[in-house]
Amino acid sequence: MTSSSSWAKAPPHTDPIGTLADEHEFLNSGLTPVRCAACTTEVLVRKASRMQMSIQWQSSPADSCPEFASRVSAGELSARIDTCPTLREAIEKAVAAGVVAVPDE
Ligand SMILES: [Zn+2]
Repeated sequence: MTSSSSWAKAPPHTDPIGTLADEHEFLNSGLTPVRCAACTTEVLVRKASRMQMSIQWQSSPADSCPEFASRVSAGELSARIDTCPTLREAIEKAVAAGVVAVPDE
């Protein structure tokens, strides 16, 4: 009875490039739904790093979020506005709680 034969069957686990590729793959599909506490709009959030965050709307923001809609009608819509403040807060809470995965840099 030797344990060396089972070792030979184990997949190679020392390739750092392969590990990074796997992590990258996970992040690409790692969209986490986060819901605005005020308007119940749900968006998909993904963090590629601590500083970088993508928000994917599942509906038109101006249709689903009253806060967003009022800003749009006030002509205030710009690249600076990507969520309503309540949704932003919900996202930050989800990140702080570890619901949205943040990769280590
Ligand atoms: Zn909202």
